[in-house]
Amino acid sequence: MGSLKAETSISKGRCNGTGKNLSPDSLINLDHGDPTMYESFWREMGEKSTIVILGWQLMSYFSDVRNLCWFLEPELAKEIRKLHQLVGNAEINDRHIIVGNGSSQLFQAALYALSPPDASEPISVVSAVPYYSSYPPVTDYLRSELYRWAGDAYTFKKDAPYIELVTSPNNPDGFTREAVVNRSRGKMVHDLAYYWPQYTPITSAVDHDLMLFTVSKCTGHAGTRIGWALVKDREVAIKMTKFIELNTIGVSKDSQLRAAKILNTVCEGYEGGNTNGVMRFFEYGRRLMTERWERLREAVRKSTLFSLPEFQFEFCNFDREIRSAHPAFAWLKCEGDIEDLEMFLRSHKVLTRSGKHFGADPRYVRASMIDRDETFDLFVQRLSTIH
Ligand code: PMP
Repeated sequence: MGSLKAETSISKGRCNGTGKNLSPDSLINLDHGDPTMYESFWREMGEKSTIVILGWQLMSYFSDVRNLCWFLEPELAKEIRKLHQLVGNAEINDRHIIVGNGSSQLFQAALYALSPPDASEPISVVSAVPYYSSYPPVTDYLRSELYRWAGDAYTFKKDAPYIELVTSPNNPDGFTREAVVNRSRGKMVHDLAYYWPQYTPITSAVDHDLMLFTVSKCTGHAGTRIGWALVKDREVAIKMTKFIELNTIGVSKDSQLRAAKILNTVCEGYEGGNTNGVMRFFEYGRRLMTERWERLREAVRKSTLFSLPEFQFEFCNFDREIRSAHPAFAWLKCEGDIEDLEMFLRSHKVLTRSGKHFGADPRYVRASMIDRDETFDLFVQRLSTIH
């Protein structure tokens, strides 16, 4: 796969199959952040989260020609606003909503929109180490003359315009982050894929200029390929819309309506005193994540070879209680004398992603915490026996 180690590379992901029929010595694939953990919730919801689309429906390219983002389904826009209001994680008033084919397409649309069109050289794109491993290849794969990957934000010294990618909570290590360069010529993209209550305490409604979200990590519907951007500036929103128009002439309406139904089901769990038979999605997710992190920490204690990040306790405005983060990834460090932890775990038939893809040390790896139960069970079991 080389350096283009994109999150969605399917070929490797298949070796887990459905996650069923794993034997004690099966290969465990935790390289991707494939959110299959949530299948159990949505299976329970059955008909409540189902939509039917008839053959003659949703045929036009256009969704709402009066809206700046003309391919955004009004139903999805409504549910996105409702969900943010429910969770209280982002400011939605006076924002343009731009829908994208996953937040991956919106990330590229944002780079296009924030780059000066006539600059003599590409604008630098930076992110603090350890950064999300897809940022460098996605930024550079078309060798754009508009923007170029410039690495770690902590060491960025150039006195020139730049774009800083701020992922909070961060992929891979789960910590809450803020911009680190902080110069007047900087523009920011806040990637908030994991700013949801099952992963981290919701401490405020964030209010940045350009914020990215995705159903992939919010509800687990990565295959639906729906993300959204909340954008303050009208001109930036127009340019992002133009990028998606040129790139894919909009976003599947089928997917948008499916995502709308899913978000609607999440909100319903919190409506009417919760008597409508819809389970509370974020409680379910938080319970699972809390339990998984406890089991992982126990396995790491038993093994004595590894360490994990420690997270502060904070008041979560959504849950109305003090709690700590339970991130979607474990950023595992080897405390022994093993130089390449990815290779070492591979020899124990556990596939993870090396720290080097995140601009960090190969003594670190990132392992998914959001795979199916069977896979996770085997992971902690195996980890606890490695000394
Ligand atoms: N940003 C971050 C930080 C991510 O971890 C991911 C998915 N791994 C994405 C963006 C891309 O999400 P999507 O499936 O919406 O393209």
